[in-house]
Amino acid sequence: MLQPTEVVLVNDQSLTIRWNDGHAAVYFAENLRFNCPCAICEKARKSDPESTDHKELAQISRKVRFKEFKMIGRYAIGIEFSDGHNLGMYAYDYLYQLCQCDACRSDVTRIQGPVR
Ligand SMILES: [Zn+2]
Ligand SMILES: [Zn+2]
Repeated sequence: MLQPTEVVLVNDQSLTIRWNDGHAAVYFAENLRFNCPCAICEKARKSDPESTDHKELAQISRKVRFKEFKMIGRYAIGIEFSDGHNLGMYAYDYLYQLCQCDACRSDVTRIQGPVR
């Protein structure tokens, strides 16, 4: 079962997680904020890229910083961002796919963040 063995908030823009399969994952505030799994963000993210909701989410994500995180049971990490948003419970299997390390970023089958 996928579990983090170490979660480190490196600074307000990057978070690293060592997973129990040995993968050293890297996450950035922008990408995690954009891919927030809560219902509100999911709806905005999946709406038309030209819609106001989608554009607002992308805009917030570009400016946001990590504030803090907390472990939720043994299945997810809750992340609070500098915009005050803390509804996202990032389940381990979802979070694993959002890794932004060089190897994962070059894997096109993974979930991609906002396009710059
Ligand atoms: Zn959200
Ligand atoms: Zn990775």
